[in-house]
Amino acid sequence: RPGHLVARFGGDEFAILLEDTPLPTALLIVERILAVTAAPVALGSAEVVIHTSIGLAPSRGGHTTPDQLLAEADAAMYAAKARGSHCFNVFEPAMRVASENRSRVRSELEQALARGEFRVHYQPIVDVRSGAHLGVEALVRWAHPERGLLRPSAFIDHAEASGQITAIGGWVLDTACKATAELPPGSHISVNVSARQLQQPDLVEVVARALQASGLPAHRLVLEITETATVADIDGAITRLEELKSLGLQLALDDFGTGYSPLSYLRRFPVDYLKIDRSFVRGIARDEADRAIVRGVLDMAHALGLKAIAEGVEKVEQLEVLSQLGCDLGQGYLWMRPARLSALPGWRLPEPRQAPSQQGGVTDLGTWAT
Ligand code: C2E
Ligand code: MG
Ligand code: MG
Repeated sequence: RPGHLVARFGGDEFAILLEDTPLPTALLIVERILAVTAAPVALGSAEVVIHTSIGLAPSRGGHTTPDQLLAEADAAMYAAKARGSHCFNVFEPAMRVASENRSRVRSELEQALARGEFRVHYQPIVDVRSGAHLGVEALVRWAHPERGLLRPSAFIDHAEASGQITAIGGWVLDTACKATAELPPGSHISVNVSARQLQQPDLVEVVARALQASGLPAHRLVLEITETATVADIDGAITRLEELKSLGLQLALDDFGTGYSPLSYLRRFPVDYLKIDRSFVRGIARDEADRAIVRGVLDMAHALGLKAIAEGVEKVEQLEVLSQLGCDLGQGYLWMRPARLSALPGWRLPEPRQAPSQQGGVTDLGTWAT
């Protein structure tokens, strides 16, 4: 309407200023925007769904400055986003705390990048039957000056929301690719790629550059994409994965079973590995239902020509069941917690030990595959 102002605020954020509009009217407008943006958009042959989150901040007359109003709308928008897509929220003071926390973490992450406070830890991926190491997964850590070594759960969502994940992820990729010079020849390196990175327009070039700079042969690089990163736009994700595949690298679908993606799409995903989420592996030795799910996933993976990697293997009993069910690979504290490169077992052994006989299904727990 005349008098309403719409502006692109930056990235995928837009601001709408409704002057002299009572709250109930503003809410109607919000609902209309949500209804309009929820309709799929045809983009070439693909259908794209836009996920909209709206934060609404009423001004308190002359008591609110423009900056305050924007900050409050932003805080309300984040609260809406946390509830899922196509949601809106009206600002409440409690949201300010979360918003301040967010800005603090963002500026700390900025500093962390500048000061080189990120580290990469590595965790072996092991052949369930022979115990041979296929390779390692790179897992980012933040050596925080006050809070110590932080795991991704403390900061990765913030980095994802702010877009800083692009810089952090790029650094992890470079570091991990270079680290392979210290690993036995032929071993794989797995690197996690977030949803945001998957949408990054120059991702393929970034990966190609990392391979070139490190001299790592592409087939030794495995990019791990979480199932959830693909759900919002499956067709777009498949196209992007195919572009990545054309570099000659391998792909893994991470945390499989947690993303609710339609199974029919799995067939179209150009992936090489399926990582069975830890939540299914946990109860596998005592829970018939968990065992049935894992058996089903393994059947499906193998029928599609994929190798399965069980995540979070902590106990010998779990390993035994996985071995019986024919799971190919495993990863977990049973073998080793993620650690610095220099702490990897046998990483300097000139000759890998011979895998002992297959008795009992499970044998050696610490050699490198040749
Ligand atoms: P993920 O890719 O599924 O990685 C496996 C997680 O399970 C790691 O947690 C690992 O430490 C943990 N883990 C491994 N074995 C066991 C076990 O036996 N028991 C238990 N309870 N946990 C186990 P971490 O390092 O905290 O990483 C969490 C998630 O953060 C990762 O899940 C991955 O999604 C994400 N992440 C880590 N590094 C990066 C990165 O460089 N970039 C991006 N985008 N995401 C990353
Ligand atoms: Mg992973
Ligand atoms: Mg996982």
